[in-house]
Amino acid sequence: MAGDIRRLDPHVANQIAAGEVVQRPSSVVKELLENAIDAGATKIDLHIENAGKSLIQVQDNGKGMNPEDAALCFERHATSKLKTSEDLFAIMTKGFRGEALASIAAVAQVSLKTKCEDVELGTQLIIDGGAQKDLEDTICKQGTLISVKNLFYNIPARRNFLKSDRIELNHIIDEFHRVALVHNDIEFSLFSNGKALFQLKPSNKRQRIVQIFGNKMNDKLVPIEEQTPLLKLSGFVIKPEAAKKTRGSQYFFVNQRYIKSPYLNKAVSDAYQGLIKADSYPGYFIDIEVDPKSVDVNIHPTKTEVKFEDDHSIYAILRSAVKHSLGQFNVAPSLDFETDQNLQTPYDYKNKSAVIPKVTVDKSFNPFEEDSKFKNSTPSYKSSFSTTSYKKEQSWEGLYAGVQTASEEINSDLGTQLLSTNEDYNQAVTCFQLDKKFIISKNKSGMIVIHQQRAHQRVLYERLLSCITLDEGMSQALIFPILIDFELPELRLLEELTPYLQQIGFDFTIEDQQLQLKSLPVLFRAEQLEDILKTMLKAYKEEESGSHFSQSDILAKALAKSGSIRTGDELSREEQLALVNDLFSCKEPQLSPFNRLTFKNINTQELSTNYFQ
Ligand code: ADP
Ligand code: MG
Repeated sequence: MAGDIRRLDPHVANQIAAGEVVQRPSSVVKELLENAIDAGATKIDLHIENAGKSLIQVQDNGKGMNPEDAALCFERHATSKLKTSEDLFAIMTKGFRGEALASIAAVAQVSLKTKCEDVELGTQLIIDGGAQKDLEDTICKQGTLISVKNLFYNIPARRNFLKSDRIELNHIIDEFHRVALVHNDIEFSLFSNGKALFQLKPSNKRQRIVQIFGNKMNDKLVPIEEQTPLLKLSGFVIKPEAAKKTRGSQYFFVNQRYIKSPYLNKAVSDAYQGLIKADSYPGYFIDIEVDPKSVDVNIHPTKTEVKFEDDHSIYAILRSAVKHSLGQFNVAPSLDFETDQNLQTPYDYKNKSAVIPKVTVDKSFNPFEEDSKFKNSTPSYKSSFSTTSYKKEQSWEGLYAGVQTASEEINSDLGTQLLSTNEDYNQAVTCFQLDKKFIISKNKSGMIVIHQQRAHQRVLYERLLSCITLDEGMSQALIFPILIDFELPELRLLEELTPYLQQIGFDFTIEDQQLQLKSLPVLFRAEQLEDILKTMLKAYKEEESGSHFSQSDILAKALAKSGSIRTGDELSREEQLALVNDLFSCKEPQLSPFNRLTFKNINTQELSTNYFQ
């Protein structure tokens, strides 16, 4: 009987291998850009259609290929970059495995035009489903043009797995940044559906970072420089005051290759300790040059992870170099009055002492009346108030006022209807706050414990959803527009959500990586807006990835999450009452928009039988 084992058809083998190298359109972008750089190009243009799902095209002015090489380059393990196995230990090029083009051609329709210097005619080649069509002479300029169409057209499962255009385009832009940042001497452009997103002229490192991330970045960069026999470090770290709550700008390049390294990231984070909040991430653009023999780049198919011979020393040198730069920056006297005080005082200390002096006047204070209000406003109590919770308290008042006005004015019918069903609670007159987390109140049958954060999320969520559906968000105009800087992916998401945000009551324009806010919903206070919008975008992205709800629903949830009061916020009695009454005017008061319990009833009967028999 014949055996079962057969050799895989080379086309199938290539498709399987493609799974490792080509995960999504951005993987193709990375490989094509790297090939252009390896070919010595000084100008590279990238065109994308439909986030790379229909077209990814790279034109370079590199050395090109002769007809023999053009015929070979799509074969597996066909490379001009490795000749002997020794070469593997001294790699100076981006590619060396000779599998990118073979993998891409196995899962897309690829065409190639290429011409070397000093020859008349170039070569053209079309590959469809891994099968090569004839080579033809063609007229073209020096360099290589590769077009990759309909990625995964022959693997529906993989095509379906691709995310929305915005998400895929963000991946492409990330990949483009990684390459363009470290090759600042090369001219790059990126066009998406015919629109220029980036046109980067050759420049120095600092300028390249600024070209990509905007002018404001210039003031935030602190140079870092170190040279030892083991390595050479250069680049920039971002000032602690500009640390972000998301891992935005963290770039390590080893011998001009972008890499991910949690280990080295730890070295940098260590150096920032005490200078930034625990929930923030430092930003950096760090080039590490080492002897290619001392680093193995061949441990991962996409070559984004490396193994250093002596990673402990690299860790130590990196940490001390970053510390040194930050230190120098800190001691340098600054005449800039806008300098953030974070830099002068390590963050850890900031919370412990320095409370911004504030005069608070209790208007209802009557020296002849010994009531609870008086006790509440004793100086010792006020001084333990942190500035942030003070701000929050103020903003919460505004927030709540908005909810009330909006619900009264917009939907009085709904209001009356709900009032009657929840009459029971609407009469709430007694309540108090427990551990800045719960509000305890009473109803006809007993006692009720309300989770303040979840309750407010529910209130905001329903309010926001009705604003979106009825398009009747109440907004207040600002005398001076508020300017907020965003990163590009955030801006793109904001653009996508603009119609909904307008319905809620936001009015803004986007210019030069900046949001200019002209009016905002009465639901939110201007001071907390930057934080609310940024946290909202983060929450939206998290929610979006695992959810099948509509955009408006995801947005309402994300805004309810970012804009709600939190556990730990101190609420005045009026605010507590207002929240209780508002919760019970909701359609579904029992659960937060994230399906968590908002309140619990404990009736008197239950108490008596369970505990006091
Ligand atoms: P690798 O980059 O690992 O060698 P690839 O599959 O990416 O493997 O490319 C195969 C070969 O095709 C390269 O070694 C190079 O000789 C040639 N090649 C690919 N892209 C270009 C380009 N843009 N310009 C010139 N030659 C190229
Ligand atoms: Mg390559």
